[in-house]
Amino acid sequence: MKRIAIIGAGAAGCYCAAQLRQMKADASITVFEAGSKPLAKVAITGGGRCNLTNDFEGIRSLADAYPRGERLMKRALKAFSQNDTIRWFTAQGVPCVLQEDHCWFPQSQDAMDVVRALLRAMKGVDLRLNTRITSITEGPAADENYFSGRGPKNQFSPAIATPARACHSERSNPAGPSAEGIYFSGGRPKNQIPSAIATPARAFDPAFDPNKCSAHLYVNGEPFDAVVVTTGGAQRFPFLEGLGLEIVEPVPSLFTFNVPDKGLRALMGLVVEAQVGLQGTAFKAEGPLLITDWGLSGPAALKLSSYAARYLAENGYQGTVGINWLSANEGEVRARLQEASARNPQKQVSNTPLLQARLWEHLVQRAGLRPDIRWAELGSKGLNRLTAVLTNDTYPVSGKSKFREEFVTAGGVALSQLDLGTLECKQHPGLYFAGEVLDVDAITGGFNLQAAWSTAFICAKALAK
Ligand SMILES: Cc1cc2nc3c(=O)[nH]c(=O)nc-3n(C[C@H](O)[C@H](O)[C@H](O)COP(=O)(O)OP(=O)(O)OC[C@H]3O[C@@H](n4cnc5c(N)ncnc54)[C@H](O)[C@@H]3O)c2cc1C
Repeated sequence: MKRIAIIGAGAAGCYCAAQLRQMKADASITVFEAGSKPLAKVAITGGGRCNLTNDFEGIRSLADAYPRGERLMKRALKAFSQNDTIRWFTAQGVPCVLQEDHCWFPQSQDAMDVVRALLRAMKGVDLRLNTRITSITEGPAADENYFSGRGPKNQFSPAIATPARACHSERSNPAGPSAEGIYFSGGRPKNQIPSAIATPARAFDPAFDPNKCSAHLYVNGEPFDAVVVTTGGAQRFPFLEGLGLEIVEPVPSLFTFNVPDKGLRALMGLVVEAQVGLQGTAFKAEGPLLITDWGLSGPAALKLSSYAARYLAENGYQGTVGINWLSANEGEVRARLQEASARNPQKQVSNTPLLQARLWEHLVQRAGLRPDIRWAELGSKGLNRLTAVLTNDTYPVSGKSKFREEFVTAGGVALSQLDLGTLECKQHPGLYFAGEVLDVDAITGGFNLQAAWSTAFICAKALAK
């Protein structure tokens, strides 16, 4: 029986376990979760409604949705698409609805339905809550190196030696291990492991038959044939440290901009369809922009934060944001202003809004125009100023704020180390990665969860072979 460990009971971990239950019913699946509840984040996704995927019709290219990991997602979506997600959840008793903004939600508008469906599909899985994994090590498999005295091929830490006993225990206890007692828990600090244990114990055990023990990966000291890491986005991955893996530095994505401009903040609550960009860069995004009491938020700002996540991290979240309030180029905006001027020469500019009145008044002021100026008085100078403010209204950005509803991590396990067809680590056979732990992340709209479902599916399929 194949023993598979999944680390993390989030969207990717639970979905991988659920798929494995369906694809490989005879596998022994253990899910380790550091927290006290599985799927805690899924329960709060989409403001408690769970935007579980997107129809992908509103994006021009996959790179628009996945600023990092586009190449992997192209393959992953072929293996398991957004339509597969909807079909799967519907089949699990969670019918879904598509919104006008291309986002899919459960018909019930309740993320807990998604949580419950996943947990139902995981029936038979050994789910170990409150269990933080602190080490993944590669131990001696039944290979020639083991008996040659050269030790296991990839020796990462002294802890690798501990599982030798565990292997033996498994052989002599075909009913399978209980986590306690039989195996080392992994809780013992590395430097306290006696050096004698570092010599594979089973080499001294005449009863030990290596051919009957295929496990070679150890999770907190417990042996498994394969391990799927789905620990989500994090600033650090201590349990991976001994594996020599390349980690692309994790930085936050999907945050809002702190703009300390009183005039702008006074417009709090306003939503405008606009283009935003970072001055001096090519980073741009478009969509509803929400003005808050401390700056800019809404889909356009979040998208910009995603595209520029790494740049902003490197620049201490300082910069200048430029807003194109009409999402139009200078020529188009000038033409619209001239048209307004021709139609209303005697009216005050501030009383003839091309945008929401409150915002329009603010912009007329930002253009340095008298509040009572009439269209006929604007002249080409006034027209130029108004055009400039409407197409590129700039504000200093001073830091980011964590958006309370959506937040993901850019960076993670470098994709170059994985076989993109299976998500198995090239360096460490049997070790797989899925979900946000990978260097894959997306803009808002259900794309992040789709990445979790698709990558988890790929791992499950590879493991079921
Ligand atoms: C508030 C919020 C709302 C969101 N809303 C949406 C949305 O509507 N649509 C969308 O597409 N995306 C949304 N996202 C993003 C999405 O939730 C994540 O991208 C997705 O949950 C990632 O899934 P994951 O399984 O990779 O990681 P996670 O869901 O983060 O799960 C990882 C799990 O691993 C566990 N873990 C970590 N380290 C260890 C360890 N050492 N040992 C054992 N367990 C460990 C963690 O406790 C956690 O339970 C939202 C994110 C947030 C924060």
